Amino acid sequence: CGIVGIVGQAPVAPLIVDALKRLEYRGYDSAGVATIENGELARRRAEGKLVNLERRLKAEPLDGNIGIGHTRWATHGVPNETNAHPHFSNGVAIVHNGIIENFAELRHELTAAGYEFTSQTDTEVVAHLIARELAAGEKPIDAAHAALKRLNGAFALAIMFKGDDDLIVGARNGPPLAIGHGDGEMFLGSDAIALAPFTNSVTYLEDGDWAVVRRNEFQIYDMDRKPVERQKRQSVGTS
Ligand code: GLU
Repeated sequence: CGIVGIVGQAPVAPLIVDALKRLEYRGYDSAGVATIENGELARRRAEGKLVNLERRLKAEPLDGNIGIGHTRWATHGVPNETNAHPHFSNGVAIVHNGIIENFAELRHELTAAGYEFTSQTDTEVVAHLIARELAAGEKPIDAAHAALKRLNGAFALAIMFKGDDDLIVGARNGPPLAIGHGDGEMFLGSDAIALAPFTNSVTYLEDGDWAVVRRNEFQIYDMDRKPVERQKRQSVGTS
């Protein structure tokens, strides 16, 4: 339902939760945040309101200057902690808005290949698809692109990789996703309102776009991996 990603300069978990709060008006049933902490993927998730996630983070804080967060409106799988995003697979972390229409077929294929599913979500197939590409020797960006080409349906995605703390891959096919431009920091958000505390300079992805987002640079591509230019805009009246 709501997505926030930050490739930042300071611990991002509290910033992500604050940004997610700005998306609360959209409704959600659970929430979560993942960072790269001491070189490892780490996450906290909670059913219910963001105060529950905040309580969890207070008891067990998450360090790390890169992270992704999500408020979930369940479509596949009941609202509970194990179905809450981010979902992980072998060094890949992912948050997703929307529905992967061909998830059943992909889940079958991945289960046959030995991947174990820990949730009932459609989303988890994307994490395993990318992990499988990595295991086959692909680099993170190539692995993400290869996986995206397999997906049918409506999605906004933010993907983070254990091995690169200067990389979030975003993708859009349906639900909105915007890159927010900071100073030595970069942001992703499903809504410019979420990014308003950080920046009012945003670039919206178009359907079929995916993006490589780093602290000091970004590049948007189409599904054939041709670089595409999208206009930078000033978001107004959102702070
Ligand atoms: N289909 C995904 C799920 O059920 C994402 C739902 C959403 O947009 O929050 O977990």
